[in-house]
Amino acid sequence: MTAVTQQSVLDSVPKGLFIAGEWRDSSDGSTLAVDDPATGEILTHVADATVEDGRAALDAAVAAQPAWARTAPRDRGELLRAAYEQIVERADEFAMLMTLEMGKPLAESRAEVAYGAEFFRWFSEEAVRVHGRYGVAPNGATRLLTMKQPVGPTLMITPWNFPLAMGTRKIGPAIAAGCTMVVKPAGQTPLTMLALADLLDGLGLPKGVLNVVTTAHGRTGAVMEPMIRDPRLRKLTFTGSTPVGQKLIEQAAEGILRVSMELGGNAPFLVFDDADLERAVDGAMLAKMRNMGEACTAANRFYVHESIATEFSERLAQRMGALRLGRGTEDGVDVGPLVDEKSRDKVKALVDDAVAKGARVVVGGNARDGAGWFFEPTVLADVPVEADLSEEEIFGPVAPVTTFRTDEEAVRLANHTRFGLVAYLFTKDLTRAISTAEALEYGMVGVNQGIVSNPAAPFGGVKSSGVGREGGFEGIEEYLETKYVGLAL
Ligand code: NAD
Repeated sequence: MTAVTQQSVLDSVPKGLFIAGEWRDSSDGSTLAVDDPATGEILTHVADATVEDGRAALDAAVAAQPAWARTAPRDRGELLRAAYEQIVERADEFAMLMTLEMGKPLAESRAEVAYGAEFFRWFSEEAVRVHGRYGVAPNGATRLLTMKQPVGPTLMITPWNFPLAMGTRKIGPAIAAGCTMVVKPAGQTPLTMLALADLLDGLGLPKGVLNVVTTAHGRTGAVMEPMIRDPRLRKLTFTGSTPVGQKLIEQAAEGILRVSMELGGNAPFLVFDDADLERAVDGAMLAKMRNMGEACTAANRFYVHESIATEFSERLAQRMGALRLGRGTEDGVDVGPLVDEKSRDKVKALVDDAVAKGARVVVGGNARDGAGWFFEPTVLADVPVEADLSEEEIFGPVAPVTTFRTDEEAVRLANHTRFGLVAYLFTKDLTRAISTAEALEYGMVGVNQGIVSNPAAPFGGVKSSGVGREGGFEGIEEYLETKYVGLAL
C-alpha cells in the first residue's frame, strides 16, 4: 500500500457532485473552498451545487428507487459489509481526510473511522431482518398483514463535526432498507463524504442510489428548500443545529414529509457524593474533550455534589490543563483547533459572559494567539445558572462546574433546559442510578460512563434535541413504512 500523505489523500478525492453514478461540475461552474482549520488556509475546492444540480440529484434518486427496492436484502447487506471492510482497510486515508478538513487529532479521526464503519457492519446484518406481521382480527373474520417497505427517496443533511459517522449512520440503514438518497454534507467538511461515495461506487452501488451534492454556506438553503418541498421526496433526515432543524421542519410540513431530526444537545453531567471520583473525572474527560467538545453529546453543564465539587474541579483542571494543543496531523497532539473562526469566537464569548456573571476560571479561559482556531481546555467553577452557557451548546473545550445539594435539585437543574439529547450520571448506588435515569428528560443516559454512542443502540433526543433514532433496532425503522393489508377469508 502506498503511504498516506496529506497531498495523496487530497488528490485522491473526487471534487465534483456525484449524481446518477457520475462525477460532474456544478451546472454554473461554481466551487467552494475547503479550509484547514489548523491554519485557516485553503486545502482544495469542491463543486458548489446549484438548484438545478439539486433537482438532478433528486431526479436520479427517484429514478433509481423502484429497482433498488426490489434488490435482494442479502445483496444490500453484503454491499454494506464490503464497504465496512474497505473503510476499515483504508482507515488511515479517511482519518487523514477528516483531520485535514475538520481539525481533530488523527487518533480521534481513527476512532471516528472505526465508529462510523460499525454502522455499515450493524446495518449489513439488519438488512436481512426486516419482517412484517400476520394476525387475526378480534372478530376472527379478517386477517391482518403488515408489510415493511422502503420509505423511498431520502434527503440526508449532515454536520461537520463527525464527517464520516454522521453520514454512515444514515446511509447504512437507508441502503439496508432499500431507500435511495441524496446526501448534503456540511460545507466545511465535504471531502470525507465524497471519498465515501467514491468507495461505494467502486463496490458497484447501482447508479442513482446514492447522490452527493456539496454546497457553500451562502446557497445551501436555496438548493435544499426546493428538494424538501418536492413531492417526490419521501423523507428528510437532518443532523445539525436546532434552529436549522426548526426551519427544515417548517419546509417539510408542506408535503407532510417524514422527518428525523438529530439536533443540538446541552448534556448535564451529574456527579453524586458517592461516585468513584477517578471514574467520574475519566468520564468527564471523554464527555467533554472528545472531538474538542464539538459534539452534540458533549457534557455542557457539570453538576457536582457540593461535598466533592472542589476536588472534582481541581482534578479535572489538572487533566485538562495537561492536554497539548496543536495541529491534528502532528504526533502527540490531544486537542485540535475548533472548526472555524466563528466557533472559536462563540466559545470565547460564552466564557467571558460566565466570568462576567461570577464564574471563576480554574484553568484555561482563552483563545490561543496565532494561526488556527484554537481554544484552551477550560474549567470554570461557581458557574451561575444565569450564564448563557447553561442554556446554549458551548461546542468547545469548556467545562462549567456548578454544585448541588440534593438528588432532586440535581435532576431539576439537569432538566432545566429545552434540550434533551443525553445526560451522564456517576454514582455507585444502583437504585439512585435507575431512579435518576428515569427522571431525566433525555433520549439517552450514560451511567458511570462518559460516552453513550454505540451503533447497536438507539441514538437520539427528546424535546428540542430532535425526533427519531439512529442505530440499534430502531435505526432501520426510520427508513421503513408499515403497510397494513386486511384480508377477508
Ligand atoms: P448546522 O445546523 O449549521 O448545519 C448542519 C447542516 O445543515 C450542514 O450540512 C449545513 O450546510 C446545513 N444547513 C445549514 N443551513 C441550512 C438550510 N437553511 N437549509 C438546509 N440545510 C442547511 O449545524 P453544524 O454547525 O454543521 O453542526 C453542529 C450542530 O449539529 C450542533 O448543534 C450539534 O449539536 C448538532 N449535532 C447533532 C447531532 C445529533 O445526533 N443530535 C450530532 C452531531 C451534531
